[in-house]
Amino acid sequence: MVARIATLFVLLFWLPVITSSSSASSSLSVCIVGSGIGGSSVAHFLREYSSPSASISIRVFERHGVVGGRMARVNVGGDSFEAGGSILHPKNYYALNYTRLIGLKIRWPNATSASDGRDDDGDFGIWDGKGFVFKTWRVSSKLPFLDKIVSFANTALLFWRYGFSLIRMDNFVQRTVNNFLKYYENTDSRPVFETVEEMLKWAGLYDLTGQTLEEELISTGLSPLLIRELITVITRINYGQSVSISGLAGAVSMAGSGGGLWSVQGGNWQMAAGLLNHSNVALHLREEIQSISNLGNYYELNSSEGNSYKCEVAVVATPLDELDIRFDPPVSIPPRKLHHTHATFVRGLLNPAYFGLGSVEEIPDLVGTIEDPGLPFSSISVLKRHDEKEVTYKVFSREAMADTLLDQIFSVRKETIRIDWGAYPHYKAPEVFAPFILDGQHLYYVNAFENAASTMETSAVAAENVARLILSRQFGHVPLKLSGSESSVADEGVLHLDL
Ligand SMILES: Cc1cc2nc3c(=O)[nH]c(=O)nc-3n(C[C@H](O)[C@H](O)[C@H](O)COP(=O)(O)OP(=O)(O)OC[C@H]3O[C@@H](n4cnc5c(N)ncnc54)[C@H](O)[C@@H]3O)c2cc1C
Repeated sequence: MVARIATLFVLLFWLPVITSSSSASSSLSVCIVGSGIGGSSVAHFLREYSSPSASISIRVFERHGVVGGRMARVNVGGDSFEAGGSILHPKNYYALNYTRLIGLKIRWPNATSASDGRDDDGDFGIWDGKGFVFKTWRVSSKLPFLDKIVSFANTALLFWRYGFSLIRMDNFVQRTVNNFLKYYENTDSRPVFETVEEMLKWAGLYDLTGQTLEEELISTGLSPLLIRELITVITRINYGQSVSISGLAGAVSMAGSGGGLWSVQGGNWQMAAGLLNHSNVALHLREEIQSISNLGNYYELNSSEGNSYKCEVAVVATPLDELDIRFDPPVSIPPRKLHHTHATFVRGLLNPAYFGLGSVEEIPDLVGTIEDPGLPFSSISVLKRHDEKEVTYKVFSREAMADTLLDQIFSVRKETIRIDWGAYPHYKAPEVFAPFILDGQHLYYVNAFENAASTMETSAVAAENVARLILSRQFGHVPLKLSGSESSVADEGVLHLDL
């Protein structure tokens, strides 16, 4: 008995050494297609979760000359603005941790003179094509007490129009956010997921993908007016789509319209750049992957530059819906349409007459719209006020904005820049998901998760899971560094991943 206990003791004592020495001989080559937040997060978490002695070579391919993908910037009249993924939620813990790891500064939207850099007091209106059916007050005073009164009056205005449905709406969003927080739990209690369905079911989010947002909110007891106006405005701004998107995409979109939203000073793309820098990857810019072939023990990736790369693991970190990558043997995923959002940036001045108003000051900083096929845009927002005669705006629309139309909406137009984004999936309910593992072997697809919701943070969350999936399937055990390297989110509201 004593001998058996001694053997057990020796085994327990030496097990970590044995396991880590087995990973000392572990080597792996990984090719990642795409340098957005998804691809760069896969690279980051592969490093984070593998033993330092493991020899993992990582190549990242990017067809463009810059990293970041949909976290892109646009230059308007010498000023640079977010053109794609702009705002992050205060509980987007991976993104928050990335900024700390990389040493990036956080910027609060519309930051102007407020001492904490925060100034969320822009006014907001809902336009139905004939008039503003709802409008908040604008604060133009530097007196903090007046700010408070106006913000109180705006809350009162909202309650006056939409009643206590607003509280039910908030509860619905909070419930969904709380379920999402499970993805930051310690990996001791958080499994590695082979499918998106499993991942969503584990967090209690899957059912929300089975119904439209509208169905979900009606069953939660929200008033039709709130759904038709405020919530429709939110889904149109964040996903360019109506309340017929899935309940989950809708909840994520609604969470992205609350308070405390932030972005990275100088551009969110720096998160991808920083992660790639820290992860010791071979970055191939301006190199598009055209085919991925499974040749038995490895994948062969062929690029637009005529190069061929061999990797034991291949990761697709970009939506496949509009791409022409040839897979051999072919892979089959459920058909998915990307929703195109046209982002038009204008430096000039809005035309008050278009809105039936007497002066440009009366036009809210954020104009949202209800669902009406006759309305030519989803939203118009102020990005920067240069002076009374010059403002930079961002217009979101489902179709390209023709010059003739812009000339009606704007009285002055000094510069106009148009971007047609294959922005996010065209959401529906029930959603059908592509697998994380495309071929049952070592070909992975991060953006399978995008049917649940498309945000910078959801890409990071999906990437974290894919990185763990790769390591656990490749090395047959959960990497040593995982255990105990994290503390739960509940600790201080911030994740302490060993970044
Ligand atoms: C207009 C707009 C507004 C948005 N607003 C927000 C927001 O406010 N908040 C938020 O959280 N999210 C927002 N999003 C969504 C968010 O930007 C995306 O969900 C997220 O950035 C996706 O990251 P990704 O890495 O998964 O994909 P991507 O960023 O698309 O990265 C994929 C990369 O792969 C590259 N690539 C593709 N094919 C190949 C190939 N064959 N070879 C080599 N490289 C290739 C692409 O060039 C790209 O760089 C918005 C998106 C858009 C378009």
